[in-house]
Amino acid sequence: MQPFEYERPTSLAGALALLAEHGADARLLAGGTDLIIRLRDGTIRPRVVVDVKGIAELDGEIREADGYLRIGAMTVMTDIAADERIRRDHQALAEAAAVVGAVQIRNRATLAGNICNASPAADTVPALLVDDARVVAAGPAGTRRIPLDEVLVRSGVTTLAPDELVTAIELPRPVTPRGTVHLRRTRRRGHDLASVTLACAVAPDGVTRMAYGSLGPRPLLVVDASGLLADPEAGDEAKRARLAALFVDASPSPTSMRSGPEYRLAMLQVLGLRAVRAAIERLAAG
Ligand SMILES: Cc1cc2nc3c(=O)[nH]c(=O)nc-3n(C[C@H](O)[C@H](O)[C@H](O)COP(=O)(O)OP(=O)(O)OC[C@H]3O[C@@H](n4cnc5c(N)ncnc54)[C@H](O)[C@@H]3O)c2cc1C
Repeated sequence: MQPFEYERPTSLAGALALLAEHGADARLLAGGTDLIIRLRDGTIRPRVVVDVKGIAELDGEIREADGYLRIGAMTVMTDIAADERIRRDHQALAEAAAVVGAVQIRNRATLAGNICNASPAADTVPALLVDDARVVAAGPAGTRRIPLDEVLVRSGVTTLAPDELVTAIELPRPVTPRGTVHLRRTRRRGHDLASVTLACAVAPDGVTRMAYGSLGPRPLLVVDASGLLADPEAGDEAKRARLAALFVDASPSPTSMRSGPEYRLAMLQVLGLRAVRAAIERLAAG
């Protein structure tokens, strides 16, 4: 590991000043479950690591505010998976958080870190995309709220500026109950990054939102407004054809050690259909 300076600011202003001073030479540290690995293997070599855990304004609270569920930047997967409001209204997110790594990882890994690491395989991101999440970022010009879909670029790259940091993630409160589910495929049981990670939400108005990851440079959101996928009476063949059309931009890496493109694309179809079925059942169960 290349030596670096370690800073632990106690205020947001202090953290932003460090980011302004060091720019792309600085890296933020939250749970460290991604960052430490990348520091160790040398894929990133920051001169300064800024630990965000001492910042007074950052919290790990989940609370309702102005029609949104606000998840503080310090919130870890364990707390997301256990939160009653998330389990009720954002079930796919609770399920995704519950399968990240193992207990020790989930006790440290933050939702903000999962987003900002920008892995195509980030398990919570598809669920956040179907739930229309937005990211709250603080920077020198103040705070801005960005739809998550506009934050993701490709592995390790987001549209956040080097002098910005995420303070919270916000989920709009659903106006009607929906059926939502997260499914994934891994090479083996136990902790592993997903070969396919997928979330689905079926709404009573017939709109189905799906998002999938590990099949290209970034997780992608697709929407079926035709009502076909949400229709419990529609046949599997018709749904498979609709899913194939929706998944047309899936472009899995041909060189990944996890699984080949053909397998991933086949599993995307299988999980897509299963997810739609499960979401319809959950919607019907209320
Ligand atoms: C053994 C193991 C198993 C894993 N399994 C899974 C899995 O199954 N599914 C999965 O999705 N992930 C998995 N991960 C990856 C990792 O645990 C998650 O991505 C985690 O959510 C990252 O959060 P963190 O708080 O540890 O982030 P860190 O490692 O602290 O940071 C990650 C990145 O986000 C940036 N960052 C952190 N906080 C902020 C902020 N507030 N504002 C701006 N940038 C910020 C950092 O600078 C860094 O670039 C696994 C990791 C390990 C080591």
